[in-house]
Amino acid sequence: MELACLDLEGVLIPEIWIGFAEKTGIDELRATTRDIPDYDVLMKQRLGLLAQHQLGLPDIQEVIATMAPLEGAHDFVKWLKERFQVIILSDTFYEFSQPLMRQLDFPTLFCHRLIADESGAIVDYKLRQADPKRQCVKAFHGLNFRVIAAGDSYNDTTMLSEADAGILFKAPDNVIEEFPQFPAVHSYEDLKAEFLKASERQLSL
Ligand SMILES: [Mg+2]
Repeated sequence: MELACLDLEGVLIPEIWIGFAEKTGIDELRATTRDIPDYDVLMKQRLGLLAQHQLGLPDIQEVIATMAPLEGAHDFVKWLKERFQVIILSDTFYEFSQPLMRQLDFPTLFCHRLIADESGAIVDYKLRQADPKRQCVKAFHGLNFRVIAAGDSYNDTTMLSEADAGILFKAPDNVIEEFPQFPAVHSYEDLKAEFLKASERQLSL
């Protein structure tokens, strides 16, 4: 039995916070963990900015609904689902990703939660667990699944290492250089080929 595990942002959809910052013109929302390494500090800043601009969950989802998955992502997911059980492992939030997941026909997604109050204002967030991507792959192994995983960034590398086969997709050069043990590809056609290569079954395009 084989599972395909995919990262979401940078692999199937654009970076949500950056897209959201562009759509709303709130430049400070472009900050990522590269600017503010402490995730808790970063999220508190984001939630503060949303409150300051009086953006509640429905407003946010409306804006995100105007964003689209990466070109070819929908067809890639469809192709993958016909050959593997597919699970998306992401550090995004369900409430944030919902409008984009709809455009991908709602593949299974394991991520985190935002907490909104009755007015729709986001007041907190809840991470499901620490190092969630690696913990998921470990758990799948406990269920006797073989795992092939693909991701684009540092937060994916523990997942790729834990998996039976790991693939870098659209990763920046520094990640590719630092993790030469993983094949690195940049198009969905090449990613399909890597999944087929990593599979123990005789699958074809
Ligand atoms: Mg990513």
